[in-house]
Amino acid sequence: MKTLKELTRPNVWKLKPYSSARDEYNGAQASVFLDANENPYNKPYNRYPDPMQRDLKAMLGAVKGIDPRRIFLGNGSDEAIDLVFRAFCEPGKDNVVAIDPTYGMYQVCADVNDVEYRKVLLDSDFQFTAQSLLTVTDERTKLIFLCSPNNPTGNNLLRAEIEKVLNNFEGIVILDEAYNDFSEAPSFLSELDKYPHLIVLQTFSKAFGCAAIRLGMAFASEEIIGILSKIKYPYNVNELTQQQAIETLEDYDVILKWIEQLKEERGKLEKAFLALPSVEKVFPSDANFFLARVTDAVKIYNYLVGKGIIVRNRHTVSLCGNCLRVTVGTAEENRILLEAMKQFEE
Ligand code: PMP
Repeated sequence: MKTLKELTRPNVWKLKPYSSARDEYNGAQASVFLDANENPYNKPYNRYPDPMQRDLKAMLGAVKGIDPRRIFLGNGSDEAIDLVFRAFCEPGKDNVVAIDPTYGMYQVCADVNDVEYRKVLLDSDFQFTAQSLLTVTDERTKLIFLCSPNNPTGNNLLRAEIEKVLNNFEGIVILDEAYNDFSEAPSFLSELDKYPHLIVLQTFSKAFGCAAIRLGMAFASEEIIGILSKIKYPYNVNELTQQQAIETLEDYDVILKWIEQLKEERGKLEKAFLALPSVEKVFPSDANFFLARVTDAVKIYNYLVGKGIIVRNRHTVSLCGNCLRVTVGTAEENRILLEAMKQFEE
């Protein structure tokens, strides 16, 4: 395994980060703040937020059972995805490896950062082998992206293969667990001590019901979190988001109820979909959505749009010909979708 210094871009490794007013003084004793050129009026919006989100991380650490120093928070997990490229990949020189199909932002961030993106096609069960990823790596492969449950396929990746990647890859493994709350597979969060080069991504956008506030989480060693924190914008998570996230965590039982409800609805919706004449296959899902192969994805997608119902057409995505990706909604939303699907005529 390479050292973190060997994996980090040299300019980032030696970077002295910007030090904000709130980095330099963050004590609770002071009452007169004249250090950040803020406006003294218009409370509570006049003050910069805590750049390190200490209160929120303390709560999250307690909920997730992890040391707050191993948590990075960003403007969605998308920020963390972009930052790992900026931290570890030399544009025009380094490369990354990912499964295909998977979440589209890994490739977009690779392209933005001018980093070669090497895709390895999943098999017909949407599974992969560690070996197939490892054989396309070379000296300049810095990152491997895995997403489990995977988007858009909905299934968990095989744990034994994920472990093989973690045990055999020299670089950093990003395991995106955005949908893990809906799955029976345990998170890799408890494995961070075992795998010092693992970054686990989770998000407030799915099970936590907070997509609007833009809050993503990265969990890793204190050293990796230190590198991501060093290169982020100073105040990357705004005050309203931090407050709302704390309120959401205070009501954690509600989240657990949503998860149970959505899993139950997923089961019902999958079963009902299977019985539809226009549906050829429903792929098993461990997420809050499922992929269904239909007779004509483009036609059905457009038909549903005409009825004011929007699903995701994945027809042009690798291995997803004639597939629609359906998010599980409320019982009422699912009923409306099913009703429309029943009325569809070829
Ligand atoms: N990872 C996966 C696998 C996703 O599907 C998504 C959103 N669709 C994200 C990350 C992005 O999450 P966020 O809203 O936290 O940026």
